[in-house]
Amino acid sequence: MKPWLGAEEAEAAAAAVLSGWVAQGPKVAAFEDAFARRVAALHAVAVSSCTTALHVALHLLDVRPGDEVVVPSLSFIATANAVRYCGATPVFADVEVETGNLSAATVEAVLTERTRAVIVVHQAGVPADVDALRALCGPRGVTVVEDAACAAGSTYRGVPVGADAELAAWSFHPRKLITTGEGGMLTTNREQWAVRGRRLREHGMSVSAAERHSGGGAVVESYLETAFNYRMTDIQAAVGLVQLSKLDAIVRRRRELAARYHELLATVFETDGPGLRPVRDPEHGTTNYQSYWVMLPEDTSLERNDVLARLAERGVSARRGIMAAHLEPAYAGHPHGDLPVTESFTKRSLILPLYHDLTTAEQDTVVEELKAALHVPLAAR
Ligand SMILES: *Cc1c(COP(=O)(O)O)cnc(C)c1O
Repeated sequence: MKPWLGAEEAEAAAAAVLSGWVAQGPKVAAFEDAFARRVAALHAVAVSSCTTALHVALHLLDVRPGDEVVVPSLSFIATANAVRYCGATPVFADVEVETGNLSAATVEAVLTERTRAVIVVHQAGVPADVDALRALCGPRGVTVVEDAACAAGSTYRGVPVGADAELAAWSFHPRKLITTGEGGMLTTNREQWAVRGRRLREHGMSVSAAERHSGGGAVVESYLETAFNYRMTDIQAAVGLVQLSKLDAIVRRRRELAARYHELLATVFETDGPGLRPVRDPEHGTTNYQSYWVMLPEDTSLERNDVLARLAERGVSARRGIMAAHLEPAYAGHPHGDLPVTESFTKRSLILPLYHDLTTAEQDTVVEELKAALHVPLAAR
């Protein structure tokens, strides 16, 4: 991945610096409005990262020690860590093989009396089937939080991912579709969560610094609860506004390049060839192809790490697929049930280069080198 940044973002950042207002202020407010409109949510609360957005989301639900929150192990580790920040217990559920996402069946298997929430991840931009999860969780009083870190520009049943989310957390890290360097957003349709979310990101203050400034008179704030400093800066938000205006073009280009990968790799997807399986749109939505992953078949003698090493030797920077938190030292000894799909996914998937400026010639090279690494004979390519 390479972010698609240019002079416009640099000028927007410079203008924010020269305005003298560099911390959370008018640009953050404008970015929140624009982002909420783009994902069709009523409220957006800008924060310092998706990790802090997840922490605020769980705080809004009053998740505390003794509670359980169901998460996929197959995710960036921040998803599970946010639960631990609240002193609660992350409970790992397996994922479905087609999308790499939680499903109603995998979640139902691990629900208990103590389950307070489920964090469903739209992994690598592939939309999860959240309606099925809400139908399962709603009647039990379990809230579905969406980790949409990778999913800006993905769609679910014809609307943007996150449009009717109870709470959705987004990331603007450079590895995601649009970037502010570091940064995140929390979206919700519930005003009372947005109001308290704004307070939680800013030390629990009753009046924000921006409001005190524009209020003119001597406004004295009070501190209503113990909270955090999870603010985004106006410099970041100025960059974010420009990036957001490019989101549609970025998604279009990524889907174009993904379609070209599908075409050029068709011979290695066939069952009589090496039998790789590529990421695709699920039947309930469209992915933004935040990552273009391919999965080695179960019965191959090829080791994923050997394929990666061979590609690296030839100058192609591919990456291992999505990590599994339960296999990391940070979760050693953390109890969990069997996670067979998660383990096979994390072991057999790899991510191919895909970014806005990738040229078709570069893409051809990736395809040729991948086929060579898979030992596909020249005549069959
Ligand atoms: C990147 C990512 C995060 C963390 O985002 P930050 O903005 O870096 O905190 C969380 N969850 C998922 C699924 C991610 O891909």
